[in-house]
Amino acid sequence: MKKSLAVFALAASMLALSASGSGFAAPAANRPWMNTALTPEQRTDAVLAKMTRDEKLRLVFGYFGTDFEPKKYKAPKEVRYGSAGYIPGIPRLGIPPQWQTDAGIGVATQGSAPTKRERTALPSGMATAATWNPDLAFQGGAMIGREARQSGFNVMLAGGVNLVRDPRNGRNFEYGGEDPLLAGTIVGAQIAGIQSNKIISTVKHYAINDLETGRDYHDARIDPTAARMSDLLAFQIAIEKSDPGSVMCSYNRVNGLYACENPWLLTDVLRRDWGWKGYVMSDWGAVHSTAQAANTGLDQQSGNPFDKAPYFGAPLKDAVRTGQVSERRLNEMAGRILYAMFDNGLVDNPVGEEPIDLAAHAAVTRADAEQGAVLLKNQGRILPLKPGTKKIAVIGGYADRGVLSGGGSSQTYPAGGNAVPGLEPTGWPGPVVYYPNSPLAAIRAQAPDAEVTFVDGRDPAAAARAAADADVALVFVTQWTSESIDASVTLPDNQDSLVAAVAAANPKTVAVLETGGPVLMPWAGQVAGILEAWYPGTAGGEAIANLLFGRVNPSGKLPVTFPRDETQLPRPVQPGLGLAKDEMFSISYSEGAAIGYKWFDKNGFEPLFPFGHGLSYTDFDYGKLRADAAGGDLTVSFRVENDGKLQGMDVPQVYVAPAAGGWEAPQRLAAFKKIDLAPGAETTVTLMVDPRLLATWDESAKQWKIAGGAYKVMLGRSSRDIEETVTVQVPERTLPAGWRPAV
Ligand code: BGC
Repeated sequence: MKKSLAVFALAASMLALSASGSGFAAPAANRPWMNTALTPEQRTDAVLAKMTRDEKLRLVFGYFGTDFEPKKYKAPKEVRYGSAGYIPGIPRLGIPPQWQTDAGIGVATQGSAPTKRERTALPSGMATAATWNPDLAFQGGAMIGREARQSGFNVMLAGGVNLVRDPRNGRNFEYGGEDPLLAGTIVGAQIAGIQSNKIISTVKHYAINDLETGRDYHDARIDPTAARMSDLLAFQIAIEKSDPGSVMCSYNRVNGLYACENPWLLTDVLRRDWGWKGYVMSDWGAVHSTAQAANTGLDQQSGNPFDKAPYFGAPLKDAVRTGQVSERRLNEMAGRILYAMFDNGLVDNPVGEEPIDLAAHAAVTRADAEQGAVLLKNQGRILPLKPGTKKIAVIGGYADRGVLSGGGSSQTYPAGGNAVPGLEPTGWPGPVVYYPNSPLAAIRAQAPDAEVTFVDGRDPAAAARAAADADVALVFVTQWTSESIDASVTLPDNQDSLVAAVAAANPKTVAVLETGGPVLMPWAGQVAGILEAWYPGTAGGEAIANLLFGRVNPSGKLPVTFPRDETQLPRPVQPGLGLAKDEMFSISYSEGAAIGYKWFDKNGFEPLFPFGHGLSYTDFDYGKLRADAAGGDLTVSFRVENDGKLQGMDVPQVYVAPAAGGWEAPQRLAAFKKIDLAPGAETTVTLMVDPRLLATWDESAKQWKIAGGAYKVMLGRSSRDIEETVTVQVPERTLPAGWRPAV
């Protein structure tokens, strides 16, 4: 019945087209799926009907795009050199290959490829989240997506939205922080930007892939209700904001089952509840079966040869022949891939190598770095540096050569090569790459009349001497983190002693951090200024100098809580450490949805720096908070005035809580907005609160439930700096599992 309807619709719209005389070349009569006037569903149905079983099988089986020595694997010659993946097309039907590239900060090259593509790198995902600016995230996505297209790729493996449950996760730098609304909004905007280039992006790694230790097998144990209100909500928001062509399922197990053969994640949540229509691809080496994976919702095996067997190659063909996997399911798998290709424009807009405007793209990444850096401390307004500063000591962090980036498959290589080659590890998950955009050079350019000295910081005593002799000391500290290994929250290489020695020698010390995420700062009370620059991307050195000298007013806010020490974490000792490789262990995420600031608030812990915190060189005044929920939706409005002397951007944040309590934590971020105000200017901001943030998930009814009653609505500068609170009556309400905001 469904099928005949689709065929009827197809015939009817073709008739309409030929009668319209609209002038565009009519598709060949034998290729109706090339007709762009049809819906992606109609085009999919039409081409699927013409495909042989072998052709469908070809679409669901991916190759690694790079030779892989340990398995004596040679990549097919049609791959894009040094890339993550390749799926052959079906030329006789006009279906192009899928050329896949990592990742979230730019067009990466696999570490084992001898020569590297040189491309623009955005700041880390964490830095982009710290901008709290979805428009900027979209522009960054549009830029890296353009470079992907111009490099011949039509599938970008971007969109990392795993929440920061543990600051030691080595991949936190790729993700969007600890809050589902912020992470989902920012990562969703980035994905939408990438896909605006008529290519596919993923959202990944689905799901609860929140630590790298034992990531291939560890079992993430989580209460399904809590997951819906945290990690899964971040995915849900990112998906509804961007409709990604693909979801990448993760390596780990979730509640006992591997994520790539997990019916709860892949079928119940993703399809039944969220109604998402794209295809699920596996992470590289995340498949463990043929029939189980195919029948529970995996549509495409990626990166042959990383799995133990080519599960979706010959074994899937056999499984379809013997009926273990139905022909109908194979049609669905291939159909979802084709749907995403039609829907995102891959079939109609072929990709190929084209020139890239690196200069224009540098401006995009610089803006992201500038808005993402967070001014954590500014005692005595030591920053911005005063124009007449005569002697500046720049210390440590390879600041004379460049800025750090995060490691693993997302590694994007810069024009000009690695500024600090040879650092360990040089092989996977390395190399450690510094982008050749030196903060020292940028500082010198902005202070031509000052004497700017540099010492490398290896000898704290020498660094202290240089600091003592200067008006201001700028001490750079770095923490390399990477995919496949977790990190320590203590800075490596004795850098804490370095900062302490420098601060002791000169109270006018500013620490500039390039880290993957939160680190401990035992010296935080001794320095005057702290600027968290994260991994700031290929224009990061200039961005840092622009912030230090006040050419740009800092506006980043923390997307993650900085703890004082590890005893404040839900798991003070990281699980899985010290076990033999492949020794199975589980991680109990018993904090549930109380992640990050919610955990800190619930337990009354005082963080080093709270979620949402970030200073400016100007001052903002907040007032006139109003909240109204009479019609069901909660609308919040307030006034913000820039009552300082400089133009600046700010992010007022709205938190909510039921007056009677009863949530996973005392409060949740419910809305935010990045605004830009000239000195003396004021604006009224009106925000609508996503009703899911007022609700709890009801696992038995499979719906969101808002308890009627009084709610506190709080306007803050951070989760711990609330300016004003009002109380509002919210009516009781339920929302279906797949509720989404009107666009
Ligand atoms: C990572 C993915 C990446 C894939 C392809 C895996 O190791 O987990 O994020 O997209 O490799 O390079």
